[in-house]
Amino acid sequence: MPAYNKKTVEDIAVQGKKVLVRCDFNVPMKDGVITSDKRIVEALPTIRYLLGQGAAVILCSHMGKPKGQVDPKYSLAPVAAKLTELLGQPVALAADVIGPDAKAKAAALKSGEAMLLENVRFDAREEKNDPSFAKELASMAEIFVNDAFGTAHRAHASTAGVADYLPAVCGYLIQKEISIMGKALENPARPFVAVLGGAKVSDKIGVINNLIDKCDIIIIGGGMAYTFFKAQGASVGTSICEYDKLDLARETLAKARAKGVSFILPVDNIIGREYKEDTISMRIYSDSIPDGWMGLDIGPVSQELFSKSIAGAGTVVWNGPMGVSEWSRFAAGTEAVAKAVADSGAVSIIGGGDSTAAIEKLGFADRMTHVSTGGGASLEFLEGLTLPGIACLLDK
Ligand code: AMP
Repeated sequence: MPAYNKKTVEDIAVQGKKVLVRCDFNVPMKDGVITSDKRIVEALPTIRYLLGQGAAVILCSHMGKPKGQVDPKYSLAPVAAKLTELLGQPVALAADVIGPDAKAKAAALKSGEAMLLENVRFDAREEKNDPSFAKELASMAEIFVNDAFGTAHRAHASTAGVADYLPAVCGYLIQKEISIMGKALENPARPFVAVLGGAKVSDKIGVINNLIDKCDIIIIGGGMAYTFFKAQGASVGTSICEYDKLDLARETLAKARAKGVSFILPVDNIIGREYKEDTISMRIYSDSIPDGWMGLDIGPVSQELFSKSIAGAGTVVWNGPMGVSEWSRFAAGTEAVAKAVADSGAVSIIGGGDSTAAIEKLGFADRMTHVSTGGGASLEFLEGLTLPGIACLLDK
């Protein structure tokens, strides 16, 4: 696992400088209206710091998947309006990304002022990390600040390429992510408990394998538990199960055993007839799912078992739901884990959309040490992979 010790906005003189800041303004939108401004609000500390230090701040971000084409549906205009409101000063939107309007606006930008470039993914060269595009972006500024943790696992022009042309540091958001998660992985308060759920083993096998080397207890719930059940010879009915990953699951179980890591799977399940919110359902006191039924949530005994391990933890990393938590009838397991983590008093790090949604729904966000702002990026971090958007920044 790469130990990141990167320079931050506080380690570089920004006064009077043009600073290009990559943010994650990929906000949810409905009918042209921002439905949650959380990501914009989270970017404010870095932006305010830079403005307060007298930098001229050129913001940029992607939104959605415009596939390299200019598409007004994905314009950052609503983000510019929201930034103007939240910062209490005008944030002009450039009509293009690296075109004449962006360049003219950037050239005229003064100390203490902010502007926003159009969606960087309006140019196909962004996601290809094309050096010509990165160079044009860099030409408007003197310093690069990356504060978009959500895209830090992607080597794109505005997340990594631009650092070839400018001194590059991280903003507060990335700094917080790497310091909290880095410490948890390198020097965790023990016992270190990892709770992993979600649909597929294949999505999280890298994380499981990396965490086996570091943690004391691994708890598995959600759809991926059924691949581990099957690998151990239990029947899984019609549950989601990756039959081509059974050997991998067995190897993982053997590795955990060899390392003395407790590997805890559900002992009871809530099962349904069909993958439907209003399916007939029942609770079974077993890890064997009958034919014609599928596991859709962990049962109450498993909730208690999992909660007990979490209660004794020094550090908890949680990523992924314990069942189909989008459906309230199958959300109890995920909510029980959310409560156990909140009550544990452990250093708690939450990643992934469904786990975060459960925490927020129950009002527990303030009781967590850290709710990661990047799903894919936090998984890759936990997997011990190098994140290009962070690796490219200057070391302290
Ligand atoms: P992930 O993105 O890997 O964290 O997976 C989240 C998805 O896993 C959610 O959409 C859940 O509905 C799904 N999921 C969790 N448990 C199950 C299950 N037992 N059967 C089917 N899907 C599940």
